[in-house]
Amino acid sequence: MTIPFLDLKKINDPYSEAFKAAYERVLASGWFILGKEVDLFEKEFAHFCGVKHCIGVGNGLDALFLVLKAWGIGDGDEVIVPSNTYIATWLAVSHAGALPVPVEPDPNTFNINVSLVKSVITKKTRAIIPVHLYGQPVDIDPLTAVAKEYNLKILEDAAQAHGACYKGSFTGSLAHAAGFSFYPGKNLGALGDGGAITTNDDDLAQKLRQLRNYGSRKKYQNDVIGFNTRLDEMQAAFLRAKLPFLQSSNLRRQEIAAIYDLNLSSCDLILPKVPLWADPVWHLYVVRSKQREKLKLRLEKLGVETLIHYPIPPHLQKAYSQFNQHSFPIAKELADEVLSLPMGPHLTDDQVMTVIEAINQI
Ligand SMILES: *Cc1c(COP(=O)(O)O)cnc(C)c1O
Repeated sequence: MTIPFLDLKKINDPYSEAFKAAYERVLASGWFILGKEVDLFEKEFAHFCGVKHCIGVGNGLDALFLVLKAWGIGDGDEVIVPSNTYIATWLAVSHAGALPVPVEPDPNTFNINVSLVKSVITKKTRAIIPVHLYGQPVDIDPLTAVAKEYNLKILEDAAQAHGACYKGSFTGSLAHAAGFSFYPGKNLGALGDGGAITTNDDDLAQKLRQLRNYGSRKKYQNDVIGFNTRLDEMQAAFLRAKLPFLQSSNLRRQEIAAIYDLNLSSCDLILPKVPLWADPVWHLYVVRSKQREKLKLRLEKLGVETLIHYPIPPHLQKAYSQFNQHSFPIAKELADEVLSLPMGPHLTDDQVMTVIEAINQI
């Protein structure tokens, strides 16, 4: 019996009755774009994060991209990003027409090394996008201090960190704005694509509502050149069914992480480290090994599925050939050593123990 890395069928099974009711509700309403469900989900998710506004959009990439657009960031501007993130963080900057400026991570937390940020700030720098990678919140206080000093915006990439806390505050409420993804495999996943922006900024929220909907505030009246990227009404209804259980599902992830921590402490792997101020939500449980490929293969033979997040850092991708000659050795080293163990509310204690036994056996 293989232990699956992710099992979306099992994860969504407990909600199937609620999903059916949500579907019936939307169908009966006859309203499929920007209706009651999106409106209510936005209110509920804003409340969950502890912010004034939530704006539902088509996906996580658009969430990040639209905020940069709304801030007027584009041609000739620079935006600081981690060198070891999922490529969407960089793509948001590129689509806005700005230049991504990579900063290496702290290998202990996998998150952007805040102490290196100042050294890459230029006259063109407009914003920083810290990523709460793998569900672990970024050390935001010192970053906020740097942003204040240089008058920069901070946009959280919270696509992997719904419900994570930094010193008791939820991600999505830690900076000027945040982008979330509801891609099915995320901690709060829809049954298709979805995304959202959270912010306390009234002006920004209004601009984003316009930008996601053809630049229109009033039907057939277009004030800016906008986009069509809205959270789907049906997906909003599905997300509303799952949101009340996000905390308990994150709690289960924390339990599993604690079992891994305890039982893998004496093996030859580097385990993830959690700073005192962080309450991570373990989107992924990522270990490091110098013999990553061998380990992955042997685990596979023992029926344990693992994945690599991510095997090629953005600067070494073909899409970013202008960066290929640049050196980001920490991002490269992590890409060569990281391995994500099975993680998620679909796993039983027995399955977690089987993973542990397999690793200890190897
Ligand atoms: C998933 C993800 C995104 C993009 O979200 P989509 O909804 O897939 O567009 C952005 N940043 C990070 C860190 C992600 O993991």
